[in-house]
Amino acid sequence: MPPPLVDLHEDISLYYVQAGAGLKFKPADFSQDMRGRHGDIPKYRRANVRLVFSSIAPLTPTISQMRVEQLTRGYGGFYGAYRMRSATLTTLEHIVAYNNLLKKHRQDLRPILTLSDVENLEVDGRVGFLMAIEGAEPLEDVEDLEIFYRLGVRSLQLTWNFDNKYGATCMSKKDYGLTGDGEDLVKLCNEYGVIVDLSHASKRTTLEALEASKMPSIVSHANAASVRKHARNLDDEELEALKKNGGVVGVTCIPPAISDKPSVKSLADHILYIYESFGPDILAVGTDYFGLLNVDEPEGLGDITGILTLWDELRRRGLGERDIEKIAYHNAMRVVRENAKRWVPATP
Ligand SMILES: [Zn+2]
Repeated sequence: MPPPLVDLHEDISLYYVQAGAGLKFKPADFSQDMRGRHGDIPKYRRANVRLVFSSIAPLTPTISQMRVEQLTRGYGGFYGAYRMRSATLTTLEHIVAYNNLLKKHRQDLRPILTLSDVENLEVDGRVGFLMAIEGAEPLEDVEDLEIFYRLGVRSLQLTWNFDNKYGATCMSKKDYGLTGDGEDLVKLCNEYGVIVDLSHASKRTTLEALEASKMPSIVSHANAASVRKHARNLDDEELEALKKNGGVVGVTCIPPAISDKPSVKSLADHILYIYESFGPDILAVGTDYFGLLNVDEPEGLGDITGILTLWDELRRRGLGERDIEKIAYHNAMRVVRENAKRWVPATP
């Protein structure tokens, strides 16, 4: 049995809401073991996935040339044409998609809403889905967090690839860091135990949010900038701040954020660098499956079961089972559990 896995980032609702746009596989029932699909129930079983951060990326297709150019520049290749328009309504659409998926597959999947849901993950045979919003644009104001909390959201990423009123993005032209509203939002997230996610944030936003956050936070999907310089990756100063915060970084399958020849081996390079420089407690996994748009998957990581070859690669390169289990499961669970202690029943 492979080690249990927490995947800190999969854009499953995007796949259904946008009918597979940008992906090589079309929408089909999640219980099918569909060839080439990044994940589904049978694949989760084989990879021993226990918990998925089921992300909501409130993106809408656009013809805005400016946004296309910004994303292409940021990723170093065509990503797709997206903007965040009507982000609140789009988010509701994604929540409906997750609710439908969870209802349809209640024997295999379960929503994660309470501390006891978190504690039962290891005994419950089902895969937990923890809903997370990718970019705070759906929150027109800070206190809107409560609305989404009541709808089941338990993690919030402050920015996607666009600047917003809470903070600057990693693809910003002008890194203005965390705004006053952004600081209030981080504090409110801490109060609710909504896990703060600094993926896609600018360096200054990341450092200032980690300073403001009293709870362990995550960078759900990013790699090490010292191994591969890329807008989406974290430099050593950011990794050090994350370590001090008690948080974790989910190493990710985003091809240009890995290397020129992305593979299991080159992803392991990132893990080993972070392991050797910052220790074993900061590492986790955030594949970004279903969000790898208009791009070829890294070699050996065509779907979630590729994670098993990653564990083999890490063993070959000297990591022990204990460290692999930390990376796969325990580190991420430590952050989830700490925040989940603050989760209260959604209805007063
Ligand atoms: Zn992302």
